[in-house]
Amino acid sequence: MINYGRQDIRQADVDAVVDVLRSDFLTQGPAVPHFEEQIATRVGAGHAIAVNSATSALHIACLALDLGPGDVLWTVPNTFIASANAARYCGADVDFVDIDADTWNMSVPELEAKLAAAASENRLPKVVVPVHFAGQPTDQEAIWDLAREYGFRVLEDASHAVGASRNGEPAGSTRWSDIAIFSFHPVKIISTGEGGMALTCDEVLADRMRALRNHGIIRDASRFRNESPGPWYYEQQMLGFNYRLTDIQAALGASQLGRLDEYVARRNALADRYDQALADLPLRLPFVRPENVSAYHLYVVRLRLGEMAKTHRQVFEELRDNGIGANLHYTPVHLQPYYRDLGFTDGQLPEAEAYGDDAITIPLYPTLTEEQQDQVVSALEKILDRH
Ligand SMILES: *Cc1c(COP(=O)(O)O)cnc(C)c1O
Repeated sequence: MINYGRQDIRQADVDAVVDVLRSDFLTQGPAVPHFEEQIATRVGAGHAIAVNSATSALHIACLALDLGPGDVLWTVPNTFIASANAARYCGADVDFVDIDADTWNMSVPELEAKLAAAASENRLPKVVVPVHFAGQPTDQEAIWDLAREYGFRVLEDASHAVGASRNGEPAGSTRWSDIAIFSFHPVKIISTGEGGMALTCDEVLADRMRALRNHGIIRDASRFRNESPGPWYYEQQMLGFNYRLTDIQAALGASQLGRLDEYVARRNALADRYDQALADLPLRLPFVRPENVSAYHLYVVRLRLGEMAKTHRQVFEELRDNGIGANLHYTPVHLQPYYRDLGFTDGQLPEAEAYGDDAITIPLYPTLTEEQQDQVVSALEKILDRH
């Protein structure tokens, strides 16, 4: 089976991990701050806080932004459930903004209309979470302008977008947001096994997130509330968690980061090759705006179901039967039973629902060979009767 995504591990990665295994610190050693520094420098954010998953990054980011009971977080339905669940961890409510028909990212006109309606009902969101779907940045400048106008905070879910840029600005720089988060799950652009990062240019938010990932502990004596009784002393000033990344993982991440440009270039080259090979099939292909460089975490095609005899499900099953690990990113989050139980129903977010009815993710990852890619194309041609 050719999976839709997979990691690339080389000898240098293995060596970097083994070096840590033989060192004094498996966790809380020097590899984590080193990795944070490298990521912060690479994307141009002031602070990078490494954590054990992007889900944890979303959680501490929401807490740092003071999201709590009575507040509302808005995100898109076309995302991994974690973007929405973060609000629920904090006791806040979730609502969804529909996606743009071309980029499949958060629709700015939809956001604007929903904000105007929410303002009149006094139910504005505290935090808005745009998701850089498939690695293409959202229209961040416009969302940031709306944040200034309506007074909400912006948390970018850049899980897919490590290495992406918009108008030359790297995703994760937080130029047009308060906090951005990355994921280092093995299917993402670079991997630490499990892992994530929160990025911000705001020192107060950075300090809070650093404490929240480590039980709420403060070690900087100048910020103690009690008088320090001695050099062993630390203070817990809030309720935090153990969301730390290990040094083993950080060493893997730093080693992988050295190949980020190579990965993004390779993903884009393979995406271009799909664009050409699939152009004559009854499919809608990904659209990347000229101001964006996509990290191409995913390559998604949408079936023109009106032009074919087969159903979405049939095409899926036939791809799997042909050894192609097709997937769906994503079933609209508001239609998950957990969110239906909170009152969401079909028909509320038509663009994302239409997307969920005809989208298919086909394999794309740096070590995918052209022969494997040709196998994917042939399978699609056969299944869609265009041999
Ligand atoms: C993968 C992903 C996450 C969660 O990442 P983990 O590191 O697995 O916790 C969150 N949001 C989006 C959009 C993702 O794709």
